[in-house]
Amino acid sequence: MMQARLLGTGTSSGVPLIGCDCAVCSSSDARNRRRRTCLHLEAGGVHLQVDTPPDFREQALAFKVERVDAVLFTHAHADHIFGFDDIRRFNTIQDCVIPAYADESTLADLKRIFDYISMDKIPGFYRPQIDFKRIDGPFRLGEIEITPLKVEHGPKPTFGFRFDVDGRSLAYVPDCKVMPDATLELVRGVDVMLLDALRYRSHMTHMTIDESVAVLQQIGAKQSYLVHLCHDVDHASQDAKLPDGINVAYDGMLIGL
Ligand SMILES: [Zn+2]
Ligand SMILES: [Zn+2]
Ligand SMILES: [Zn+2]
Repeated sequence: MMQARLLGTGTSSGVPLIGCDCAVCSSSDARNRRRRTCLHLEAGGVHLQVDTPPDFREQALAFKVERVDAVLFTHAHADHIFGFDDIRRFNTIQDCVIPAYADESTLADLKRIFDYISMDKIPGFYRPQIDFKRIDGPFRLGEIEITPLKVEHGPKPTFGFRFDVDGRSLAYVPDCKVMPDATLELVRGVDVMLLDALRYRSHMTHMTIDESVAVLQQIGAKQSYLVHLCHDVDHASQDAKLPDGINVAYDGMLIGL
């Protein structure tokens, strides 16, 4: 049994955009309010936080995240890491160091941007207690088998993750322009697939909705959701247009499997 909750489904700027009065940004449909995309997953009492966006504190409060046993990072873009400092609250609650997993390039960026985490202890200085761990292949945390999924999204290495628990599978790829064939084979036929779908117009580093739907149809998950959306996309009207088994995700959406 695993439970996954999308704490956010928006692109880097979030929705509404600052200073925008378009129909989506001023919509009264709560599903059009998108915090920056991240995922919280629990199985067998182990809680994983995938990425810590700038909204992480507010997301943890809104969706009652009470425990984080490990943090996994997909890549080091600002919209996926700038809430990392709030992990210190979980150090306090759980009274322990918390591991943070990422590939070599993302780890290097995290250690540079959050350099104070690794500095010698300074009295009175409250900072996250992190054990940085390099991902270089599939690994396991509690009952959760984790497979890194390499994708193309700009010049630096970017990953999604496949999670397997007790014969059930969920894959999460929030930032992706191209899914290489080798990665596609790793996610083919998963139970639930969450994939980047920024907007309708083409973008250098993200999939459009049409590109995303085409890849989702190749993957053939039982259920798929679009994430990392911008303010061009109205939840209700877009959701109604998608093929069966593909839906637009929204903040707080809970997936049990
Ligand atoms: Zn992003
Ligand atoms: Zn807008
Ligand atoms: Zn990104």
